[in-house]
Amino acid sequence: MQNAPANPDATHSIQNLTLVVNEIYRSLQGESSWVGIPCVLVRLTGCNLRCVWCDSGHAFAEGRRWTVKDLLDRIEELGESLVLITGGEPLLQRNVRPLMQELLDQDKTVILETGGSLDIRIVPAGVVRILDIKCPDSGECKHNHLENLRFLGPRDEVKFVIASRGDYEWARDLIREHGLDGRCTVLMGVVFGVLEPRDLAEWILEDRMAVRFQLQLHKVVWGAGRRGV
Ligand code: SF4
Repeated sequence: MQNAPANPDATHSIQNLTLVVNEIYRSLQGESSWVGIPCVLVRLTGCNLRCVWCDSGHAFAEGRRWTVKDLLDRIEELGESLVLITGGEPLLQRNVRPLMQELLDQDKTVILETGGSLDIRIVPAGVVRILDIKCPDSGECKHNHLENLRFLGPRDEVKFVIASRGDYEWARDLIREHGLDGRCTVLMGVVFGVLEPRDLAEWILEDRMAVRFQLQLHKVVWGAGRRGV
């Protein structure tokens, strides 16, 4: 009798698997507790949400199809041990799972940034999951799959992009209700150009929130609207 493979994806050849990729490049990790570390960013095409302040609209439909093999070769060529997989919504493409598993098998550190509307349990163990929880002003709050919060561990992070005092209070109450700050890293940042970072910083301090305030590093360094950085 044969033993079951340790990695279920090992039974599939990656040769024939494909993903539609919007862009791939080397940069500094722009957000999260990994901010500032050089990484390879892989942005997958397609998103099931339409946040009103979205800055990645180019990822909704633009892109070209890559084999997972070619993508792995390109990531290797770019030469960083940290790989960020983002979108769009990367979990919409099922072949993202074997890609992540292959990267883990190559001893890469893999970060997945997901919009929070899809079940994160398909993500291979070992991947750092960053769950972007949608606040009311995004217009997509109703699509949060809050069941995901139960599965977060100490390596995972949740992120709130705040556009107003109302968004902040909604996020604060959700963090407290679910005890998120005791279970994983909680990130709070502003919608660039909509809410003053100082306002958010002061609200966090006033409420003694155990969260990490963040600015989007790539916008500070290269300016808003610049792509491929
Ligand atoms: S989930 Fe991300 S890519 Fe999709 S609309 Fe919202 S901000 Fe844009």
